[in-house]
Amino acid sequence: MATEVTIIGAGLGGLALARVLHVHGIPSAVYEAESSPAARSQGGMLDIHDYNGQIALAAAGLTDEFRGLVLEGRQAMRVLAPDGTVLFDKVDDGTGGRPEVQRGELRRMLLDSLPAGTVRWGHKVTGARTLGDGRHEVTFADGGTVVTSLLVGADGAWSRIRPLLSAAEPEYSGRSVVETYLYDADTRHAAVAKTVGGGSMMAAKPGREIFAHREKGDTLHAYVGVVEPLEWFAGIDFTDAAAATERIAREFDGWAPELTALITDSDVAPVLRPLYALPAEHRWERVPGVTLLGDAAHLAVPNGEGANLAMLDGAELGQALAAHPGDVEAALTAYERAMFPRSAEAAAIGGGEDGEDPIQGLIAAVAQDGRPE
Ligand SMILES: Cc1cc2nc3c(=O)[nH]c(=O)nc-3n(C[C@H](O)[C@H](O)[C@H](O)COP(=O)(O)OP(=O)(O)OC[C@H]3O[C@@H](n4cnc5c(N)ncnc54)[C@H](O)[C@@H]3O)c2cc1C
Repeated sequence: MATEVTIIGAGLGGLALARVLHVHGIPSAVYEAESSPAARSQGGMLDIHDYNGQIALAAAGLTDEFRGLVLEGRQAMRVLAPDGTVLFDKVDDGTGGRPEVQRGELRRMLLDSLPAGTVRWGHKVTGARTLGDGRHEVTFADGGTVVTSLLVGADGAWSRIRPLLSAAEPEYSGRSVVETYLYDADTRHAAVAKTVGGGSMMAAKPGREIFAHREKGDTLHAYVGVVEPLEWFAGIDFTDAAAATERIAREFDGWAPELTALITDSDVAPVLRPLYALPAEHRWERVPGVTLLGDAAHLAVPNGEGANLAMLDGAELGQALAAHPGDVEAALTAYERAMFPRSAEAAAIGGGEDGEDPIQGLIAAVAQDGRPE
């Protein structure tokens, strides 16, 4: 029987790996810090691309299930000027290569595709150490340990496995997003719902951005981007929802009211998310018995690729292990050789150059052909 693969983190990347391993008859155990699948809201919509995320789901044998989750019409895309002028408007004609799904439903689909007991909930990893012979010992918050000869860190931005391979740590990117939600938008927030349209909408000027999309039903979910240092945000009390809303909205003075309503009319308290990134060329020398995937390997400022890449990493790693039975190092070498340049290239998308604001590059690319490449 094949060696059991120990995966840390039941995000989309870790689960894609577990599923592809299962398809190939390779057992795995996924250790996840959260106490249950429902422990945290998995809000947000993801567009799953035909050039990475969909390839991963095909390798997982889940294309039909994925198609069943797609929200029709959500590939529509608009770009507005801050005064509300529509600069670009693309309808969803059903031919686009980036169908949208709810992240929570995608994660549930992957979870349901695994043998019962694969995911060990409530196992927060606090550290891992090498035993010197390709095996590693992983320690959990409750003091328990597990020893494994194949360890995969799929535990996201603040990976506890990464230090086995690299000294790199995520650094603040210089921008943060403030998340808001508007519920029952067609009836309760009709003007802003009309402005966002049937899919995604973005409006930006250097250093200030509003990105919104229509989620399942008529929920509007917005990311309000602000380029400021962390100290600037520290001066805002996000426990005081009204004051924080007012302070963020002030940064968008003069913008069209149907855009600023995405801040001021939120049905939930605004949530601050500082955006961190690893160096774009992050890589490491091969260390026997351990590797990373997804954000743990290549955390980047959100550009629509992260979840797609995490799933592709997981799928390709699973395929590499299946293709090299009995030779873990050959599999990990083949996986990393493809993953390193792919993630470096993706990190450059929307990354901005020479002081250019990232969203501007993204908007220009999207406006050009509907795909930021
Ligand atoms: C605001 C925002 C918007 C985004 N929008 C998009 C988008 O539209 N499209 C897209 O493709 N990507 C998007 N991304 C990026 C995407 O969310 C990530 O790239 C993706 O989730 C990475 O998947 P992952 O499996 O590597 O890690 P994660 O999704 O972070 O999963 C890691 C898992 O590991 C668990 N874990 C963490 N630490 C431990 C520990 N110590 N012990 C055990 N378990 C642990 C976590 O609980 C989690 O379940 C966005 C990111 C942000 C911040």
